[in-house]
Amino acid sequence: MITRGDIKEILDRYKSTTIATICSHTALQIFHGAREEGFKTLGICKPELRGFYESFPLAKPDVFVEVEDYSEVLDDAIQKKLRIENAVVIPHGSFVEYVGAENILEKFSVPMFGNREVLEWESDRKKEGRWLNAAGIRMPLVFKKPSDIDRLVMVKFPGAKGGKSYFLARNEDEFHQGIEESGMKGGEYMIQEYVIGTRFYPHYFYSPLTGNTEFLSVDVRYESNIDGMVRVPHIMDNLDPTFVVTGNIPVVVRESLIPKIRDMGSSVVESSEQLFPPGINGPFCIETICTDNLEFVAFEISARIVAGTNLYIHGSPYSQLLYREPMSTGRRISREIKMAMEGGLLERIIY
Ligand code: ATP
Repeated sequence: MITRGDIKEILDRYKSTTIATICSHTALQIFHGAREEGFKTLGICKPELRGFYESFPLAKPDVFVEVEDYSEVLDDAIQKKLRIENAVVIPHGSFVEYVGAENILEKFSVPMFGNREVLEWESDRKKEGRWLNAAGIRMPLVFKKPSDIDRLVMVKFPGAKGGKSYFLARNEDEFHQGIEESGMKGGEYMIQEYVIGTRFYPHYFYSPLTGNTEFLSVDVRYESNIDGMVRVPHIMDNLDPTFVVTGNIPVVVRESLIPKIRDMGSSVVESSEQLFPPGINGPFCIETICTDNLEFVAFEISARIVAGTNLYIHGSPYSQLLYREPMSTGRRISREIKMAMEGGLLERIIY
């Protein structure tokens, strides 16, 4: 396992800092924010995508490292190149998906923003549940076996694939039919209560340098085909809903609910400090549904920058109350690195 000590040794040899990530997911926002904070940037990119990134002059990375496949970031030559460039890698959803949480912990010997241990906690459903429970946040009920199903449930499969192949069932028969049709027979699954309400995906940033958990913005995911179904209500019974993320929609929250949202963020930070010290730092998102009792139920936590923050490159209705300048999550990451460099505290926020 790559230790904090290993990463500190590399950081001590760095002569400057380059903000780096894989060209996907939130890379444009990350590079744009890094440029605003005065950093050099580096994009790990497939050749066919280079032109796309070059077409955004305010966000294109200063340096490209081309790879045929993103799993190549684990190759010694690429890791060496990143270290030579003084790279601090910003993990995002695609980065974790392509490289794998375990590989990052075991094989990726390049400094990364945040606590890499946290990626294991968010990608393992049992650990994620322990974490949210320890934070006192309500989660949907889980049914141990299909015969226990007594309400609408969502059947989920392992891995963050944007809700791909998940299905809904109202009883044991529908469960077996869904498993058959999903082609996931014999695999692992989780039967979770389907919570009816409105979805909110609040974006937080925890800074151990200031001790604050900032509520920076919030979005709602736009999912196909479930979000298109309401347009054809008369035939909905004959359709199978799917939950594939295709975009993100901006939203503001009823003001009286904001204290609850802030409390959830702070509790998640506090419980992370107890479960895997020193705990989480940087951006994270709690995926929630707000019921008509105005109670939040959390079904997932993403312990890194999430794609919904792309809406707010020029700030959100909430970040504008925290910062005088446009503050995206991407820029906030670079601001944190800058503050840590000034205070000689880089090793606290980079692992
Ligand atoms: P990602 O890792 O990209 O967040 P995922 O594959 O882990 O995606 P989820 O986020 O768990 O998938 O779920 C996909 C979508 O399904 C959610 O955005 C939400 O719309 C819906 N959903 C998930 N769990 C529930 C639930 N318990 N009740 C109601 N809707 C849910």
